[in-house]
Amino acid sequence: MDIHEYQAKELFRNAGIPVPPGEVVTTPEAAEAAADKLGGKVVVKAQVHTGGRGKAGGVKLASSAAEAREHASRILGMTINDLTVHKVLVTPAEDIASEAYVGVLVDRKSQAPVFMVSPEGGVDIEEVAATNPDAIRKVRIDPRYGLLPHQAYGMAAFLYSEPAQVKQATKIIGQLYQAFLDGSCSLAEINPLIVTPDGDVKAIDAKVSVDESALFRLPDVEAFRDLDAEPPSETKAREASLSFVKLDGNVGCCVNGAGLAMATMDLVKYYGGEPANFLDIGGSSNPDKVVAALEIITADPSVEVILFNIFGGITRCDDVANGIVAATKQIDIKPPIFIRLTGTNEEEALAILKDAGFPAYTSMDDVVEKAVQFAAQA
Ligand code: GDP
Ligand code: MN
Repeated sequence: MDIHEYQAKELFRNAGIPVPPGEVVTTPEAAEAAADKLGGKVVVKAQVHTGGRGKAGGVKLASSAAEAREHASRILGMTINDLTVHKVLVTPAEDIASEAYVGVLVDRKSQAPVFMVSPEGGVDIEEVAATNPDAIRKVRIDPRYGLLPHQAYGMAAFLYSEPAQVKQATKIIGQLYQAFLDGSCSLAEINPLIVTPDGDVKAIDAKVSVDESALFRLPDVEAFRDLDAEPPSETKAREASLSFVKLDGNVGCCVNGAGLAMATMDLVKYYGGEPANFLDIGGSSNPDKVVAALEIITADPSVEVILFNIFGGITRCDDVANGIVAATKQIDIKPPIFIRLTGTNEEEALAILKDAGFPAYTSMDDVVEKAVQFAAQA
């Protein structure tokens, strides 16, 4: 689960990291009042679950409260990477002498948390990785021992040459790691970590993703969930207990079981297609889930064809077939539906679908090939 910058800053502040104060507001008037309280010279920052806000015009410096109000009225309601801005953070404008990057994430390849630090902060770290990889240092943290003092010091010394800043950064890196652990984060990032002209090291941006599976024991973090900030498809999928990940292709996939869903996406690619999503409707036999799944898939305008791949074990194929028929009566589905069902109650399912006029297959290869061919011509 992604959280907002102002929420991530709260976690960082609680861990002791120096973070400037700020106020979250939803109207230009409130932005003006907040700016006034902070002395007028502020930054107005879009609160959306995506990076690159600065480039998109979602981070604006104001030299007066009136200007902060103007910026807020422009930023509130704008869309950044398809997400609408409902809130802005008003925070004091800092004078910046240098910008660094400090992040820690769960790295699957290393099977451990890995820190990434770079003295070239502020910009996309991916860009630095591509153009100047020597400017990034990666440090794997052995989970048996945690972050060791020499590791924190080594990273800080890679970022700064002044002892005063090395000392502050060493402490901040330790605090960031503690916040990362306490919040069960998959990512905790400060970009930029700035040095002010007075030599103070501060975090002026914060990005945190929390492991969804840990939320049951983190009620304070769970409370950060902002339904207005996530794509409607994700909210709907969670409410219906479906695992859903939006992708960029045009073949909408609806599969029971995560493994079969992965195999289906592989086969779509094998036949030259691109999946529009990963969607696992789970192992139960619940027609309501099929209806919810079809609503989510058909809400995506790039979907040209819908592909069902159902292996009936615990799932009963006739339930899925009934769900498909019910869904097509409830919602207006434009893309054609290609269905493959095999296993428990397969005969009944095929009869139900045939009666309703749907083509159905029992071979996974056949159905995926046909669906991809159709999508390619669409
Ligand atoms: P992002 O684009 O979503 O990562 O948003 P950031 O909070 O990182 O802001 C982007 C950039 O705006 C930073 O790298 C800074 O260069 C600039 N910026 C943000 N806050 C301030 C500030 O308080 N003072 C100054 N001078 N620049 C800022
Ligand atoms: Mn940033």
